[in-house]
Amino acid sequence: MEKLAITMADFEKAAKLVQPSSKREGFSSIPNVKWEDVGGLDDIRDEFDLYIISRIKYPDDYQKFGVNLETGILLYGPPGCGKTMIAKAAANEAGANFIHVKGPELLNKYVGESELAVRTLFSRARTCSPCIIFFDEVDALTTMRGKEGGWVVERLLNQLLIELDGADQRPGIFIIGATNRPEVMDPAVLRPGRFGKLIHVPLPSSEDRGLILKALAKGKPIDPSVDLAAIGQMEACKNFSGADLRKLMEEAAMTALKEAKRQRHLNETSGTITATQNEPSVNITATHFEQALGKISPSVSEKQIQYYKAWSESFKAT
Ligand code: ADP
Repeated sequence: MEKLAITMADFEKAAKLVQPSSKREGFSSIPNVKWEDVGGLDDIRDEFDLYIISRIKYPDDYQKFGVNLETGILLYGPPGCGKTMIAKAAANEAGANFIHVKGPELLNKYVGESELAVRTLFSRARTCSPCIIFFDEVDALTTMRGKEGGWVVERLLNQLLIELDGADQRPGIFIIGATNRPEVMDPAVLRPGRFGKLIHVPLPSSEDRGLILKALAKGKPIDPSVDLAAIGQMEACKNFSGADLRKLMEEAAMTALKEAKRQRHLNETSGTITATQNEPSVNITATHFEQALGKISPSVSEKQIQYYKAWSESFKAT
């Protein structure tokens, strides 16, 4: 006969269950990312407008024209290219609540809880419609299949499919998945009615890099002589993701700050401080960007770029 004993794991499990949602799991609110914070990605914005924003704002139009679109979108592409940002901006623009779910977090090792978590997630979304559920690293829900613990994934995935298939029962609820590894996604998840609309979020073009830099420059003392569009076109920015461009902007700002500090120190030691000199007089200049460029290199490799391109082509071909 199997021996029954209370283990440490049971205590941990009980403690987790009685914690009043302390991890903010499934916590929803309207995100504060705005469209103007997102640089470039115009085509993807248009898709989001058609598939989500206008649908939430003007549902009657869709009904009138009898247009029935997918409610699940999968964003795929290299990391740091704005998948999360655009999903949040879409929710902000639509005035929709946003539930951010990290794929791996849903994979609770305690049997049954993951399924419950999925059910709870969708019922919470129903209570705060219009709502976007964003599954970050959604591939994690399928990659472990066949490996140790794979059956937990399988049960969770089945529950997820049940919820996804019930689109009719959740008006005003949209599902967005994001993945850097589309090839490991279970094809069952990508069928129509589930994550039926696939959108590639590629590395920004040279023009988009300029637009991203402009979006990132908001609120920063960029010298008027700096041409951000021209910086975006530079060979040194080739293959930069949005996240790399953010690093570039941060590094340039840091270099300028250091210079401002040095200048302040000089003023103080020479005893020539006036009220205005006490204010940092240094703006972020092209030289600061040049110095920053020497320190930053693309985080996505050429091989990865080719892989995403090939995947997106093969998807178009099927
Ligand atoms: P992903 O979800 O594709 O991994 P994120 O949306 O989390 O990427 O982007 C990471 C960070 O990079 C953002 O917080 C932002 O600072 C910057 N970033 C990425 N893409 C853009 C963009 N198109 N416009 C402005 N900033 C961007």
